[in-house]
Amino acid sequence: MNPEKLAHENHKLEKRLCREVGRAIVDFNMIEAGDRVMVCVSGGKDSYGLLDILMKLQARAPIDFEIIAVNLDQKQPGFPDHILPEYLGRLGVKHHIETQDTYSIVKKVIPEGKTMCSLCSRLRRGILYRVAKELGATKIALGHHRDDMLQTLFLNMFFGGKLKGMPAKLVSDNGEFMVIRPLAYVPEKDLIRWAEVRQFPIIPCTLCGSQENLQRKQVGNLLRDWDKKFPGRLENMLTALQNVVPSHLMDRKLFPFESIEVTGEADEDGDKAFDEEPLPEPVPPTTDDETGNEVPARAVIPIAAH
Ligand code: SF4
Repeated sequence: MNPEKLAHENHKLEKRLCREVGRAIVDFNMIEAGDRVMVCVSGGKDSYGLLDILMKLQARAPIDFEIIAVNLDQKQPGFPDHILPEYLGRLGVKHHIETQDTYSIVKKVIPEGKTMCSLCSRLRRGILYRVAKELGATKIALGHHRDDMLQTLFLNMFFGGKLKGMPAKLVSDNGEFMVIRPLAYVPEKDLIRWAEVRQFPIIPCTLCGSQENLQRKQVGNLLRDWDKKFPGRLENMLTALQNVVPSHLMDRKLFPFESIEVTGEADEDGDKAFDEEPLPEPVPPTTDDETGNEVPARAVIPIAAH
């Protein structure tokens, strides 16, 4: 790609990232005037991207809010502990590095070969809550993105028996903090590209030596595969998370099935009995045989609900 075109593409990506993060912040009222937002930075592409875009938005926001970047150095072997302080210092953002050797604790407690993640993340959560309190943070911002949210939804369905994703904004489990995920609308592929554009000093996430969660990896591959074969499908799934129809699910806590009664009034959202529900399904573009041009396919494939 020639340099001019590349610069144009990068500019478009930056605009898109700012727009999507801004949209999530507004939709969920994530950041308010006077907030002190603690941005958790791990050294991975997502949290670097989050901090970067939040700083851009902060510079042009009509309200004043503070950002404090926080990294927890868990003393994993080989963790290059100079990278983040140097990077954050260069950015000129307020930051705090918390050093706690959770690695040794986890190693001591968890038998060799067993997965360490649940204890490790529990310890990390406790430390980050304490740090947030000490820093007077009103919000804790995490770098989970759209694909993380969809992965969580599928994992909960497949293995947890729950229709439950990852919240864009929720009070922390100890009841003390508002946790926000401003990248909720951002596809992972945009963050991968942005990390290349910005040349973030990425710290590898395999230092702890823990095995990758195989199920999460499989679901991640499934989503990536769908995204390639059926462009638009992941966007649709994210939209679906914002358009829940409790009467068409089976959770009796969300809809009073036991007590509903016939009203005699027509209702568009009522049961259509034997009708097939046509579901628009995005399909990948095809090539026009005559012209060789790409034709965006917008076919509606009726899927019968028997
Ligand atoms: S991958 Fe390593 S650092 Fe991350 S939660 Fe698991 S044990 Fe902790």
